[in-house]
Amino acid sequence: MQDHPVAQAARAAPLFDRIALIGLGLIGSSIAHACRRAGLARHVAGYARSPETRETAAKLGFLDSVHDLASDAVEGADLVILCVPVGAMGPVTKEIADALKPGAILSDVGSTKGSVIAHTAPHVPQGVQFIPAHPLAGTEHSGPEAGFAELYDNRWCILTPLPGNDPAAVARLRKFWEGMGANVDEMDPDHHDLVLAVTSHTPHLIAYTMVGVADDLQRVTNSEVIKYSAAGFRDFTRIAASDPTMWRDVFLNNKEATLEILGRFTEELFALQRAIRTGDGNMLHDYFTRTRAIRRGIIEAGQDTDLPDFGRMPVRRD
Ligand code: NAP
Repeated sequence: MQDHPVAQAARAAPLFDRIALIGLGLIGSSIAHACRRAGLARHVAGYARSPETRETAAKLGFLDSVHDLASDAVEGADLVILCVPVGAMGPVTKEIADALKPGAILSDVGSTKGSVIAHTAPHVPQGVQFIPAHPLAGTEHSGPEAGFAELYDNRWCILTPLPGNDPAAVARLRKFWEGMGANVDEMDPDHHDLVLAVTSHTPHLIAYTMVGVADDLQRVTNSEVIKYSAAGFRDFTRIAASDPTMWRDVFLNNKEATLEILGRFTEELFALQRAIRTGDGNMLHDYFTRTRAIRRGIIEAGQDTDLPDFGRMPVRRD
């Protein structure tokens, strides 16, 4: 197996001596795998609230130490990353605050930033650098078994530094994410929340709605919805299979931006509805031509494959 280039550089002097991951689901366990692949820390400690998750993490072996208490995990850590649902960030920070090492960097991976900052920052002790972050990478799977080292490769990680953050600490966190394969950008937290409402939060809500509608219809159509799902519905179901706790918290914590985008979505939907009703083929054609160009842009930016049907292989049933 080829050695990862960042690992070669990092091995001589890892970026961090000890990092601690609080929450060991898809995102936390993937950080552990990716961090290990690149040799970014001498020791990776982890904590999860349930004994089952801690046992699974210990069995899978992606951590150097697994702790029963969050405060034990963060003891002596130079970098602590909160990998719990956004609604839990504040309470968890309160729990670990007294155990954080002076000079440590505290970061998170939450999908919303404004509310995480509002609920977390008040608990962060003096001398600890709180630098919020959000990796734009995920799958519909959750839990410690879902993680893998390549999750962040060529994906974006957005840092939303706060006034008063030490530029050297921000640069170190940037290097950490780059070491895990990500491209890093910086943004104002409110702008982050609006951008994500467009690119992630509202699309998830629409997928949940579409699958909910089909679930009602399924009772009428006797499972034809499932049988013929490859016609497009299947792609909604992948998104709508995402973790319910995480997504409940996302909507409760990015209320304003999601409602703003949802309002615009509804207006567009009415316009399309009207075009269908009035037989305005030109409007529909122009609209779909514009949307096709966006798909091309995503492929050109290397954020998806241009293989037909996302590169899925036909499944043989014999
Ligand atoms: P996950 O696989 O469900 O893991 C969540 C982890 O948080 C688990 O270890 C869980 O502990 C712990 N947890 C849940 N509720 C908690 C609470 N109230 N107090 C303390 N710990 C709690 O979720 P994930 O996908 O890794 O998501 C984690 C974070 O990453 C979220 O903030 C999410 O917004 C963000 N994020 C997710 C994605 C994505 O696509 N999944 C992408 C980018 C960012 P137990 O296992 O012990 O229950």
